[in-house]
Amino acid sequence: MDDLKICCPKCEWEPDGLPYWQCDCGHVWNTFDTAAKCPACHKQHKLTICPVSCFALTPHLDWYKGLDKWLEEMVAQINEEVIVNT
Ligand SMILES: [Zn+2]
Ligand SMILES: [Zn+2]
Repeated sequence: MDDLKICCPKCEWEPDGLPYWQCDCGHVWNTFDTAAKCPACHKQHKLTICPVSCFALTPHLDWYKGLDKWLEEMVAQINEEVIVNT
């Protein structure tokens, strides 16, 4: 997954590893360390705010660029295997 890049879907700001995100429980952490799951209360956050650039609130998964391509390749691989086996 070398092509995987994390950036804001709106403005393409890339997280710099600092803890910008605050959970409802008050815990502050880098949400990309844990795929948007709060390490303190284990709440899974579906939306992620762009904390320093455009402040847009977008689905956490939309931040992962290259994931679609990776998924496509996986699906293509599975299809190939199916063809070989039949
Ligand atoms: Zn929490
Ligand atoms: Zn942004």
